[in-house]
Amino acid sequence: MKRFIFHKMRAILIIPLLFVAFSMTYIKVFAAPQNINDNHGLGTKTESKIYPDNKQKTNEYIIVLDPGHQSKGISEKEPNGPGSTVMKAKVTGGTYGKTSGLYEYQLNLLIGLQLKDELENRGYTVIMTRDSNDVSISNVERAQVANDANADAFIRIHANGAEDTSVNGAMTICQTASNLYNSSYYSLSRMLSDCILDSYVLCTGFKKQKVWETDTMTGINWANVPSTIIELGYMSNPDEDKKMASEECQKLMVKGIADGIDSFFTSSDDKREEIH
Ligand SMILES: [Zn+2]
Repeated sequence: MKRFIFHKMRAILIIPLLFVAFSMTYIKVFAAPQNINDNHGLGTKTESKIYPDNKQKTNEYIIVLDPGHQSKGISEKEPNGPGSTVMKAKVTGGTYGKTSGLYEYQLNLLIGLQLKDELENRGYTVIMTRDSNDVSISNVERAQVANDANADAFIRIHANGAEDTSVNGAMTICQTASNLYNSSYYSLSRMLSDCILDSYVLCTGFKKQKVWETDTMTGINWANVPSTIIELGYMSNPDEDKKMASEECQKLMVKGIADGIDSFFTSSDDKREEIH
């Protein structure tokens, strides 16, 4: 009898313990991945994937987006790099699409805001240098936003213009390996530039120009985080200008950049460890 009571008590204790253990497993396996990686109807929708570990990582990544230019340029000058005597305009006016009637600063913001939503849907933390056209922020100040946030990626969004209206295609831009101010971020910036350009041209079908390495960009020289500029396409090319102004193409452009950011983080973990 005593023995029977002992067994009964043990069963009473074990059943709630099993229940707790099962509930915890359930939460871990089924409940956590609910808000992951939904493409929200962008481009060809892939199966939504369940990567609980990735989600935790993505949450930790901070991305600063800088839609280039603003409604009025600032002709006053600022140093091209920390301590540099080369002075450049704080913000230039940017280019203009004759066919679309859009100013570059308008297109950059349109893409920037859609990209913010897409990246947040994928679980990233996103900070914008501007969310309106009527602002006054210099290129140095834009880089400071990325530095202050200790961003994992600083993405500057621009569109191109050329005298020759037949020129078309996309490029990304980063510093050279011998940049005076931030060469330690060269390899990550180059990787970020490659990842974004590759998936951008894949999604949009735009011509791939190149990754341009240059130390002439104020907003890159002042950045102490992995950085890139994406030149979305040529607003001087009537066909590309019209495409970039369409909602349909913008969805593909945004998906292309976001996919590139995803692949940067999946391929750069080892390199990031080395630097941080
Ligand atoms: Zn620009």
